[in-house]
Amino acid sequence: MGTTLPSEDVLVRMQRDLKRALQRDPKHVRWTMVIDQGKCTGCHACTLGCVAENKLPPGVVYRPVIEEEVGRYPAVRRRFLPRPCMHCQNPPCTKVCPVTATYANAQGVVVVDYNRCIGCRYCLVACPYSARTSDFGEWYTKETPDAPSVLLGRTAAAQSYEAHPSTEYGRRWPQRGTGSPIGNARKCHFCLHRLSAGMLPACVTTCTARATFFGDRNDPESLVYHLLGSPRVFVLKPELGTHPAVYYLK
Ligand code: SF4
Ligand code: SF4
Repeated sequence: MGTTLPSEDVLVRMQRDLKRALQRDPKHVRWTMVIDQGKCTGCHACTLGCVAENKLPPGVVYRPVIEEEVGRYPAVRRRFLPRPCMHCQNPPCTKVCPVTATYANAQGVVVVDYNRCIGCRYCLVACPYSARTSDFGEWYTKETPDAPSVLLGRTAAAQSYEAHPSTEYGRRWPQRGTGSPIGNARKCHFCLHRLSAGMLPACVTTCTARATFFGDRNDPESLVYHLLGSPRVFVLKPELGTHPAVYYLK
């Protein structure tokens, strides 16, 4: 007999969870991510989905997927660890910011105020998960030679795509020049701009293996609440007392 397919895609369930969470009093919502390491295939679709969504320049990555080899030869296998910001409930990064540009919002999402950040990078050093990167104003298509005889306007089209403003935090941030977020610290923000528009974070919707789950852990009806009851749950570096809001399933 073949495997029975689930009656509903988990994305549909999480979309329902999100709709319910957005109707709740925001003070009581705690955004939470759960990543199933057993399901992750290391395809990096989430990394790329995030880069495209947030218009991330070279050197800025919010959600790398770390690969490691486990076991002893010949019984070895690859294991994958997607590593967004942990949205620590006790975040070391916010404590070192000299201008209070980074803080946890009411739903526990650690954000960066691009208008306050002075680019000192103290937070990059303080983060024990290396979850922050600096925007040096690089761009992928810089100095790409144009080839109008091959395909008219190809380079111009690529450059204009890359110059499109980032819509993080519900604003339009230019990707050229010297203004924010260029020069600033940048990090995962659970796609707050998408959440407020009723959409799940980009990494959740692009995960080809349905290995990433998202929702309000304070809602007993939500999928993440249910998953957090699993004996497979763990967090990264629990000994540091950072209390991540990103959980993993072994
Ligand atoms: S993972 Fe790093 S950047 Fe994210 S909240 Fe924790 S300390 Fe801050
Ligand atoms: S998209 Fe899903 S399966 Fe692919 S690397 Fe990211 S978490 Fe893993």
